[in-house]
Amino acid sequence: MDKKEHKPHCLILPYPSQGHINPLIQFSKRLAHKGITITFAVPQGVLVSSAVNADIAVETISDGYNAATRADADPQEYLASFKKAGTESTSRLIEELREGRGGAVDCVVYDAFLPWGLAVAKSKGLFGAAFFTQTSSVNAVYYSVFKGLLKVPVSERETVLPGLPPLGVADLPSFVVDPEKRPGMLELLVGQFEGVEDSHFVFVNSVYELEEEANEWMKKSMSVKTIGPAIPSIYLDKRLQHDTNYGLSMFKPDDTCMKWLQQRPPKSVIYVSFGSIAKLEEREMEELATALKLTGRHFLWVVRSSEASKLPANFAGGASGGKGLVVPWCSQLEVLAHDAVGCFVTHCGWNSTLEALSLGVPMVGVPWWSDQSTNAKFVADVWKVGVRACPDEEGVVGREELARCVECVMEGEEMRENARKWKELAKGAADEGGSSDRNIHEFVSTLMGGVK
Ligand code: UDP
Repeated sequence: MDKKEHKPHCLILPYPSQGHINPLIQFSKRLAHKGITITFAVPQGVLVSSAVNADIAVETISDGYNAATRADADPQEYLASFKKAGTESTSRLIEELREGRGGAVDCVVYDAFLPWGLAVAKSKGLFGAAFFTQTSSVNAVYYSVFKGLLKVPVSERETVLPGLPPLGVADLPSFVVDPEKRPGMLELLVGQFEGVEDSHFVFVNSVYELEEEANEWMKKSMSVKTIGPAIPSIYLDKRLQHDTNYGLSMFKPDDTCMKWLQQRPPKSVIYVSFGSIAKLEEREMEELATALKLTGRHFLWVVRSSEASKLPANFAGGASGGKGLVVPWCSQLEVLAHDAVGCFVTHCGWNSTLEALSLGVPMVGVPWWSDQSTNAKFVADVWKVGVRACPDEEGVVGREELARCVECVMEGEEMRENARKWKELAKGAADEGGSSDRNIHEFVSTLMGGVK
């Protein structure tokens, strides 16, 4: 094929968890829409459903594990295995694509959790682009650790870092405060910056205006480009019907909840979800269940099937007083976009937080681990679109506290008004000519030009 006719081709390498696959597949769809060929490479047995458009090919690579062994893998062993098996299988895939199946790859867009993606790109003479699934503010904390500017474990009452508001111990990512709790996680998170200063592009699933100072500080060291919110375009502009969900799922959604929501009045339902990874203690489940009953309001609670045995006896079967519905998984974007939802009790995983910000839903933050505490801090104190629930001395958020926070958010006019403001801002960033759209456009233009 003559050079001018060559359609640029990106190989996308996500870390195989739902919170990483979602933003990367969405970013891929944006690129495909702008004329880029996409191959999305996922380890075998990760997905239960794939419904992405014809412009995106889903291919399999190896992480050295299978569906049964992956779930309980030790994080350090898993990453070492993925690095080895992934480097080999991804290099092989690039060769196979070049020889016909899909065409020559121009750029590897690698999840920052998989920094070896850059080495693969370089070994083949391709562009390398890192993709961060957490905020620039959280990146600023981990990058400070990477650079030796922040010593861990952090125990000072207040940490002051460039581009960030002063952060208390409870506001910092959990692994910076207590690295021993899950050995290997801090290394993984700090390791995201290995070689990143040499990446041709550094994408962050965030909106520039949400965290301007942190973006500016990170830009001094690497070529940061915000591209968020990476959510399907129908949620940003109702006229764009072509893009309604993420399309690659590790869980099967229960559709009954949409009919159930349909029958509830506007802004009356508390939506509760702790994402795809968090594992709550039995007492935490009980406090949450009792708090929801105490509010006397309707609620929709996602309890993954692996967590369901921890629900109080008969709770899902009607002991919630008929006001609630418990489902194992839902189409979260559809739920958040539904008019019946009045607030979101969330673990503040970054995707869930950005989705709620982009859809104008105020939040009660109940962070569980990792960067969720920092996201909760921003939700409550910087963006002012919610409150953060305070745990008791055992680290559990009690029923009265939770019920109080829910009331505060359901009735909080100012938070709802702020939520509307951020929703508009997120939409503006993704719209043609907005800050994120311009960054995506610039990337596409570079690939079209083909000059490194
Ligand atoms: N999600 C979903 N249905 C659910 C719960 C979550 O589709 O019932 C999606 C949610 O929209 C988000 C992702 O799963 O895109 C979870 O990512 P997040 O970063 O919020 O949390 P994590 O699962 O990584 O802790």
